[in-house]
Amino acid sequence: MSRYWSSLIDRLTPYIPGEQPKQQNVIKLNTNENPYPPSPMIKEAMIGEMDRLRLYPDPNADILKDAISKVYEVSRENIFVGGNGSDEILAHIFHGLLKHDLPILFPEITYSFYPVYCALYDITFEKIPLDGSFQIRLGDYIRPNGGIIFPNPNAPTGCIRPIEEIENLLKQNPDSIVVVDEAYIDFGGESAIPLTKKYENLLVVQTLSKSRSLAGLRVGFAIGSLPLIEALERVKNSFNSYPLDRLAIAGATASILDRNHFEKTRQKIIETREQLSKKLENLGFFVLPSKTNFLFARHPEHDGKRLHQMLRDKGILVRHFTDPKINQYLRITIGTEEECEILTKTLSSIL
Ligand code: PMP
Repeated sequence: MSRYWSSLIDRLTPYIPGEQPKQQNVIKLNTNENPYPPSPMIKEAMIGEMDRLRLYPDPNADILKDAISKVYEVSRENIFVGGNGSDEILAHIFHGLLKHDLPILFPEITYSFYPVYCALYDITFEKIPLDGSFQIRLGDYIRPNGGIIFPNPNAPTGCIRPIEEIENLLKQNPDSIVVVDEAYIDFGGESAIPLTKKYENLLVVQTLSKSRSLAGLRVGFAIGSLPLIEALERVKNSFNSYPLDRLAIAGATASILDRNHFEKTRQKIIETREQLSKKLENLGFFVLPSKTNFLFARHPEHDGKRLHQMLRDKGILVRHFTDPKINQYLRITIGTEEECEILTKTLSSIL
């Protein structure tokens, strides 16, 4: 194409979401969804909202903010809630807060949406290498100002940095915006939310897609200082004043308030993860320590791509990445105990 706009199209390098197969009989361990249904409380709340669908939703989603405020012990003014998952909140963050004269920093191996947003919003970035054990080296993220973003725990590795290191990073970067993407924090990690009360430059982003089994509802939230939340509100209101529909607000609120269901399901996933990790090690896999709802593992004698294909042929979907730095690894979502049992039996039959 030689038209002037071909370069505009070339610049866009979209994220390709994980496969969502149409068949029902597939064991789906490829997109880090929760294997358990969401809180039963959400049904009643959402049905109750049906008759009101003729009305616009509350643009501020105050009942949801109140629920988050209660459960996470932060003021309502320090909460931003957003539609279409935390991905859309991340988009607002890149758009409104991370654009800078200096390149923004994120890990070399991390959530592959970050460079996509950079391309969309014309943001320059620098990828910081992980250490030899796939850990994020927060000591390498020192900047006079600008932006820093990383998932904690990281994806797709599953590894976590302790909260003391994050506090240290904040102390060393008082003039940079530091964004911690906590999509997987509920599976055994310590959240940085309490640090938002002490550090004005910290923004923590969470999602209801993983630990609350609501990937299909598309709701996320961010917690931070008043100026950072105000910035996100301005981006939101320049983009779509109603990011959450009535059903999403009702369902998400009920989910946040159902602490029992949340505790039960996340503990179950943590237990299954530890069992699966041991079983994979017994099969000869090298498994990275994980604080997420997935495992990142490679077999020293079997090619990652081939293993991925062999599992696929037997109806088990896991995630494989083409990046040569990690192409020997499989990222395996923690399913139910039964699903993990079928996975390990299948692996032992093909190894
Ligand atoms: N951050 C990370 C690190 C993720 O892996 C994901 C899920 N793909 C997200 C954010 C976004 O999740 P969602 O849009 O479903 O909230």
